[in-house]
Amino acid sequence: MRAAVATGVNAPLFLTEVDTPAPGPGEVLVKITACGVCFSDLGLLRGHYPFARFPVVPGHEITGVITAVGDGVSWPEVGTPVGAQFLYDSCGHCDYCVRGEQILCPRKRITGIVADGGYAEYAVLKAGYVTPLPAGLDPIAAAPLMCAGLTAFNGLRQAGATAGSRVAVIGMGGIGTLAIRYAVAIGARVAVVSRSRRGEESAKALGAELFVATEETDPAPALKAWDDGANVVLNAAPSTSAAAATLGGLAPDGTLVLCGYGSEPLELPTMPMVLNRLHVMASPSGSPHDLRDTLAFSATHGILPDITPIGLDQVPAALEAMAAGTAHGRSVISFT
Ligand SMILES: [Zn+2]
Ligand SMILES: [Zn+2]
Repeated sequence: MRAAVATGVNAPLFLTEVDTPAPGPGEVLVKITACGVCFSDLGLLRGHYPFARFPVVPGHEITGVITAVGDGVSWPEVGTPVGAQFLYDSCGHCDYCVRGEQILCPRKRITGIVADGGYAEYAVLKAGYVTPLPAGLDPIAAAPLMCAGLTAFNGLRQAGATAGSRVAVIGMGGIGTLAIRYAVAIGARVAVVSRSRRGEESAKALGAELFVATEETDPAPALKAWDDGANVVLNAAPSTSAAAATLGGLAPDGTLVLCGYGSEPLELPTMPMVLNRLHVMASPSGSPHDLRDTLAFSATHGILPDITPIGLDQVPAALEAMAAGTAHGRSVISFT
């Protein structure tokens, strides 16, 4: 099969022909339909994951079809369309795994970083960690839902966003745009915080009632003037300081949730936090049940990201564009 292999930190992706893997006990062989190119794939190549195993096939926004199953696998059956995500597997017996919070398992493994992922025609995945695709969900456009969608949906949920909440989303990239759409669809009121006014029209078209351009306006008072502030601020920008700048815009008992972050430390004013019982949390992608809910919600509300289908040989260029900040929309490798 054709595969793109990461051979080490700062080494170029290597496009090659490798043997198609065979599923072992508890595993399934997935013929890959599509795999999204995620910002964390760039992080892998830049050495941001000290636990990475090289060589590795990157990619964790996978959709495909089960083509073979290993010993002892009674589900999912051959022919089932599935998605696979950042969480490759976990120990299965710690307190977090038993609670269905496998993404918090101290022994979790990450797809495309320590186990081969979706930059290939086939992948061996764990039967218990793939998610069946709801009927009618386009498997190519849906690929980024396995990571960007899951992160946005679960971030809103973990922060307690619900119908009628005032939700501010920082950033209008892949995660931010999906977070705006999910928040609107759950019935929240939505504000968008972005550096420039460039995204204002599209934010309003998606249903945002307030747009704050931080190069013109301090976001904290602007959000605080929005009926006493945001109940939830979801940071989808790759900047920690952009998130910290909105803390004063939270309503009492409000929550700032970091889905995006930068390398700079998080510095927060403590007095308003204490006086208003503010919450600051971070949220990784999610567990298998979170992905099921994300996909069901996306299918019900017709929420799919804007994507550009590319071939496997175009991945190095797509990663370069992402690194240079010139990428528009999400690139998705299509194997069909
Ligand atoms: Zn565990
Ligand atoms: Zn990702």
